[in-house]
Amino acid sequence: KELKVHFPVKKKMLQKTNTVVKAVDDISFAIRQGETLGLVGESGCGKSTTGRAVLQLFKPTSGEISFAGKRLSTLTASEMRQQRKHFQMVFQDPFSSLNPRLTVKEILDEPLKAHRLGNAGERSEKIRQIMEVCGLNHTFTDRYAHEFSGGQRQRIGIARALILRPQLVVADEPVSALDVSIQSQILNLMQDLQEEFQLTYLFISHDLGVVRHICNRVGVMYLGRMAELAPTEELYANPLHPYTRTLLSAIPVADPRLRKERIILQGDVPSAANPPRGCAFSGRCPNVMEICRESRPRMQQVTSEHHVACHLYE
Ligand code: SF4
Ligand code: MG
Repeated sequence: KELKVHFPVKKKMLQKTNTVVKAVDDISFAIRQGETLGLVGESGCGKSTTGRAVLQLFKPTSGEISFAGKRLSTLTASEMRQQRKHFQMVFQDPFSSLNPRLTVKEILDEPLKAHRLGNAGERSEKIRQIMEVCGLNHTFTDRYAHEFSGGQRQRIGIARALILRPQLVVADEPVSALDVSIQSQILNLMQDLQEEFQLTYLFISHDLGVVRHICNRVGVMYLGRMAELAPTEELYANPLHPYTRTLLSAIPVADPRLRKERIILQGDVPSAANPPRGCAFSGRCPNVMEICRESRPRMQQVTSEHHVACHLYE
């Protein structure tokens, strides 16, 4: 709720004031139990920062994150440790997120040890089970992560996230580093695991095709703000925000009869250190109006499930 993550940046020579990068600038949303909520946008739009803030990997500048009705900022350190195992992360790059000096067994044992879950025998059994559901052969346990292909490594990364039986998994571009032929295997695995363990996903991606395949609802971010939030089919069929329309017009479509004209934007993404005063998209928007440069559009409910932040709908 009203989440802000602002990073100070060092003063450059001759510059009088310190600047602040508004990586996430006042966004509010809820993730419903059992759903997959997508966060999409170009790199630098704040989607990864949002995911990390949700996981409490750092303290947001302001705003409130609640999990299952508990305001996380009000918890004591030991209560927080208890909560932590309920939310886990799957990282983008299975090559750098797994320690190459550890065996698969050691990688999967680490979180169990950190949370003091069971004796050696019980932990071995948990490791065996999670490897099996993640499609990893049990003969892999004593091999090192670097011996595996990208797809296998991401299965290990997913197994590591799930071994604590979390409720919420934040997946930050989980298939972006993988070959297209492997991507769908990993996405299917994630969907199967969601059903089996009743997981809730926050799925971060810049790939609108992947998001459409896996998400129930999608939030579109631009320059640290939420531009639009809607159920997936609704968003793709009836995008309201000019930025969402631009993004969707850039997806390649195989059938020429279904191709729509691609909207080409003028200008570059402005810096989050110096965002436009009114609407963050005003410098590039094909529909820009006078008011857009002056005042920041508020998120509004267009239908019960469709929200957009744009002056066109006020
Ligand atoms: Fe474009 Fe104005 Fe809407 Fe921003 S508020 S997206 S500038 S029409
Ligand atoms: Mg990112």
